[in-house]
Amino acid sequence: MSSEYDFHCHSTASDGQLSPTDVVLRAHKNGVSCISLTDHDTTAGLNEAQICANNVGIRMVAGIEISANWSHQCFHIVGLGIDPDNADLSQGIKRTETLREQRAESIGLRLEKKGIPGCYKAAKKIAGSGMITRTHFAKHLVNDNYANTMQQAFDRYLVRGKPGFVATQWPQMEEVVSWICAAGGIAVLAHPRRYKITATRLRQLLTEYKDHGGTAIEVVCGSSNNNDIQESAKLAQRFDLLGSVGSDFHSPDNKWIELGRLQPFPDGIEPVWNVI
Ligand code: AMP
Ligand code: MN
Ligand code: MN
Ligand code: MN
Repeated sequence: MSSEYDFHCHSTASDGQLSPTDVVLRAHKNGVSCISLTDHDTTAGLNEAQICANNVGIRMVAGIEISANWSHQCFHIVGLGIDPDNADLSQGIKRTETLREQRAESIGLRLEKKGIPGCYKAAKKIAGSGMITRTHFAKHLVNDNYANTMQQAFDRYLVRGKPGFVATQWPQMEEVVSWICAAGGIAVLAHPRRYKITATRLRQLLTEYKDHGGTAIEVVCGSSNNNDIQESAKLAQRFDLLGSVGSDFHSPDNKWIELGRLQPFPDGIEPVWNVI
């Protein structure tokens, strides 16, 4: 149940609870020897994570998780082994940052209209200097007793069809993949089993993803069961994609998801760590 590789996790640079340093220390403690910090639409935590990884003697692969649109739906593309200073990537994520900022203001206004004032300011405060996400709104809604749990805050206020949901035109998937490739990285479709999408549409997505330079897919996630892993592995084989592994760790409060705690990597798939 443990893996020396973990290529998907979050810090306070986006919606994680631990600083980049504490993420790396925790991963090291859990036996991870090669980690990628993949914050939402930002590379701001990578320097700090790298310094800590050097100190404890583990490998850090520069990463990011970028929000992308395909067919009016949001998908997450992880970039591994990126050059954070690449101009295409930096300009791209700057655009996404602006979208996140505008969306956060809209979420605040919508919740205000529903009689819940002050959410934008409060979420901004929780996010601090990090990239603002719905998680910060959910935290505030729990703190102020509008919901008992994060899950409930999402389900009641923040998902499609609920008062605080704002449909966002993220950059197109092909653009996002092109930024990652321009930055010398490998594009990985994150948590393929978590999208509300039919098998046929997912195959269409993967066909286009591959055409645009996508090279990998997560086959083992922190939340995967055996069936998820088998199905993801089938997709990797069918589309000739490399397989990645990542817990998607956000917080020690979630007892189910832990850095480096991952099911075994399936046979017959080429792992991303062969090429990064
Ligand atoms: P955003 O990228 O700002 O839309 O926020 C998405 C983040 O919210 C994801 O990366 C998860 O960390 C978190 N999230 C999304 N859906 C849920 C949910 N139903 N329950 C708890 N956290 C969620
Ligand atoms: Mn997140
Ligand atoms: Mn994600
Ligand atoms: Mn993630």
